[in-house]
Amino acid sequence: MNPPKKSIKDIDVKGKKVLVRVDFNVPLDKDRNVADDNRIRSALPTINYLLEHNARPILMTHLGRPKGQIVESLRTAPVAKKLQEDLEKPVVYLKECVGPRVQKAIDKNKNSVILLENLRFYPGERENLPDFACQLAQLADIYCDDAFGTSHRAHASTVGVTAFLPSVMGLLMEKELETLGGLLENPARPFVVVLGGNKVSDKLSLIDSFLNIADTILTGGGMCFTLIKSMGLEIGQSVIEEDQIGQIASALKKARTKRVRVLVPNDFVVADRFDKAANHKIVPTEMIPPDWMALDIGPATIDTYCLAIREARTVFWNGPMGVFEWSSFSKGTKSVAECIAETEATTIVGGGDSDAALRQYGLSEKMDFVSTGGGAAMRLLEGKKLPAVEALMDR
Ligand code: ADP
Ligand code: MG
Repeated sequence: MNPPKKSIKDIDVKGKKVLVRVDFNVPLDKDRNVADDNRIRSALPTINYLLEHNARPILMTHLGRPKGQIVESLRTAPVAKKLQEDLEKPVVYLKECVGPRVQKAIDKNKNSVILLENLRFYPGERENLPDFACQLAQLADIYCDDAFGTSHRAHASTVGVTAFLPSVMGLLMEKELETLGGLLENPARPFVVVLGGNKVSDKLSLIDSFLNIADTILTGGGMCFTLIKSMGLEIGQSVIEEDQIGQIASALKKARTKRVRVLVPNDFVVADRFDKAANHKIVPTEMIPPDWMALDIGPATIDTYCLAIREARTVFWNGPMGVFEWSSFSKGTKSVAECIAETEATTIVGGGDSDAALRQYGLSEKMDFVSTGGGAAMRLLEGKKLPAVEALMDR
């Protein structure tokens, strides 16, 4: 992180109203209860820190995509309920984000944590309108950004508001920036990156960034077929982005000059159609049948990759190794995840689907760090600036 930013620990919050941007964009079930409270629990350290230091947290989040208008099913009431359970302290939900009624309710509920309504009910949020940002700022004395997952977006609650209040980061934000930022600075070596996922175009900047710092990049998932094709091999009906072949070829060239090992799978599980019940078999990479498609890495690749992972001292993983949603094609992802979970290395995971896979296998706790920020994490690792982070006060 360059330059380092101030956190809530660097300023005096005692007796202050602190407007905290959290990322409580959680999934709701059909009864509109919170189906997964991981994001809520991730923000508890900041909320508890503020309470312990006699500050008054006023929390704000977006939920879903209401497009600047009120959508009844996207109110933050169920989130407030879940937060109250997790926090074990009173939480008051307000049906608005700004205005005199909100001000009054904040003054009245001095001993409660406040959760405002869905920010995206207001068009000014996504459009980053100064008057909405200013109205938000009027609710508090200090602004704290703990929503790493939205830090790549310049909205009123992430960037606009920082023009009006002293602005610092929360503890989750700090942990995300330190952990992910640390990967690009001084990782313990060997540093092995495991990259999968569906689109190579999404991962090119990431590959480019890791070519400057990783020792080995293990590729899998849908993205590896563009690499394989660029080497002159045939890939049958597997997913490919023809227009990215040139880019990938130059990345592989860069890898050679930088002496970074980039591995592609040496075998695959191939299927006769894109279906969970498709016929499937294991073939070496150079023998993918023309009318079949590869949907998972094969057993020999799992062995090769696990060998590299076991030798690593730092492992970063992003992107499933196959179509892990379907059991016939989930073995590669599961085996690699298990191997990462077992190593002594520092293990860091980013990406929404990778996170989902880990949870499905019950392995999240075995990792040193699982990022809560999908797009934001990728942006940071690509070496790009995050507007919401840039807007905070320098330390
Ligand atoms: P993350 O969210 O962890 O960054 P991505 O979104 O990049 O991961 O990729 C996840 C998706 O990639 C999954 O839905 C998975 O089914 C798909 N995928 C993985 N391997 C293949 C493959 N061989 N063919 C098609 N899709 C694949
Ligand atoms: Mg994804």
